[in-house]
Amino acid sequence: NLILFWHRKDLRITDNLGLHEAYQNSKKIIGFFCLDPDILSRDDIAPARVTYMLGCLEELRKKYQERGGTFLVFKDSPQNIILKLAHNLKANSIYWNKDVEPYSRNRDRELAKTLKEKNINYHAFWDQLMHPPGDVLTKSNNTPYTVYGPFWRSWEKLEKVAPFPAPSSLISLDENEQKIVDQLGAINLPKAENLGYEWQGDLILAPGEKSALERLEYFCSDLLLYYDDNRNFPAIDGTSLLSAALKFGAIAPRTIWQKTVEEWENCQSDEARENITAWRKELAWREFYQHCLYFFPELAQGPYREHFKEFPWENDEKKFQAWCEGKTGYPIVDAAMRQLNETGWMHNRCRMIVASFLTKDLIIDWRWGEKYFMQKLYDGDLAANNGGWQWSASSGMDPKPLRIFNPASQAQKFDPEAQYIRQWLPEISSLDTGDLVTGKILPMEAQSCGYVTPIVDHKEQQRKFKALYAQVKK
Ligand code: FAD
Repeated sequence: NLILFWHRKDLRITDNLGLHEAYQNSKKIIGFFCLDPDILSRDDIAPARVTYMLGCLEELRKKYQERGGTFLVFKDSPQNIILKLAHNLKANSIYWNKDVEPYSRNRDRELAKTLKEKNINYHAFWDQLMHPPGDVLTKSNNTPYTVYGPFWRSWEKLEKVAPFPAPSSLISLDENEQKIVDQLGAINLPKAENLGYEWQGDLILAPGEKSALERLEYFCSDLLLYYDDNRNFPAIDGTSLLSAALKFGAIAPRTIWQKTVEEWENCQSDEARENITAWRKELAWREFYQHCLYFFPELAQGPYREHFKEFPWENDEKKFQAWCEGKTGYPIVDAAMRQLNETGWMHNRCRMIVASFLTKDLIIDWRWGEKYFMQKLYDGDLAANNGGWQWSASSGMDPKPLRIFNPASQAQKFDPEAQYIRQWLPEISSLDTGDLVTGKILPMEAQSCGYVTPIVDHKEQQRKFKALYAQVKK
């Protein structure tokens, strides 16, 4: 009884619901992954993300080998590969874990239809969410939530499933099966540059299950109880850094939740528990945006709020370029963009600052920023990124009508000693802290450091944006 397990955003062996279910039915499992040319040829792929994903696949291959199993990587469309594998190996069934993205859902629907026609069994599971779409609905009329607060209150109360164990040992293929497998066109794991993605930097968290579990352990033992106090300060190592691991499923939300339960039980004070709750709320934001994308797939194309559909964005290419390169003359914005460009990651507080700046100060369509983030972020994820951008642009599911961040007040509050600014903008690091956080750098001083003067005036742009907003709101 040979089962095929298709890994997608679940690049791990431990606490993998679909794999666990497959293992209940057979110890002979071939795990595989498809480097889908359709996805790899998109123009919003980040080299850092490809590097992270390949690292996860490398580790996954070893985990299968250690258990006597087989893990294969192909570079072809999943449909072609699955039919070829099932046919040649006479596999009884195919297992995978579900995904909320419109592209994946369409692909899976098509595939399921073909498999049905060919009498091949398939089984799909919700693995990457604690509570799948449909489990968290409004009490009043059983509809999906479009506001986070009540979503969180319902989500939090639902009973949580415990982690699933990893398959302990797998049955190896026999000689004949191995011969067949050798002829199926599986490839050696390529390097990112062989796929056209060169990544020079160091990822903020090494790829794979092992590193994600180690980070979880460290975060929970050393940082979690200070999370709420520290999470907004980009110069502090105060957040989990698990976003890419969650995106690619190098770690499961159940494993993370279980850890928070253990920490909760050890808690001595309400204050400590509040920090755990603050982190759990972030995990719920991730699920909220996935539910939103599932029920409102049109979010991937445009604004949720009607009046933003006709918003007269100015879309100045030069200003956009300056924003991308971290050359706007607003130190906190530029520091954040340099962090993104150099590391493939950006602190959440800074994601909100630069997104507000792009949309409200430069009056550039949030979709330009959303795409640029996807081209750079190693944790780039459609649901979270789209949700974050629509929230920042005020076009999304956020009850507050308009949010405009003042970059200077944000820096004064969240980088008061300008440590973060100095780290990412070494050319102005010797300037006074006051000047760095307020952004009031004398033009002469900026010039002598090789730094830029502000490309727009925040107050003026704020007035302009509000006037445009008032027009479309009419
Ligand atoms: P922690 O603070 O430790 O949070 C734990 C986990 O909760 C994160 O790993 C993440 O999975 C989830 N999470 C936290 N905050 C959010 C949030 N606001 N929305 C959704 N999930 C959240 N996150 C991504 O994973 N991918 C993206 O592409 C992405 N793009 C964003 C774009 C914008 C404009 C904004 C404002 C936010 C974006 N976020 C995105 C959310 C958030 O910034 C990152 O998840 C967070 O910075 C990752 O760091 P961490 O793992 O240390 O987070």
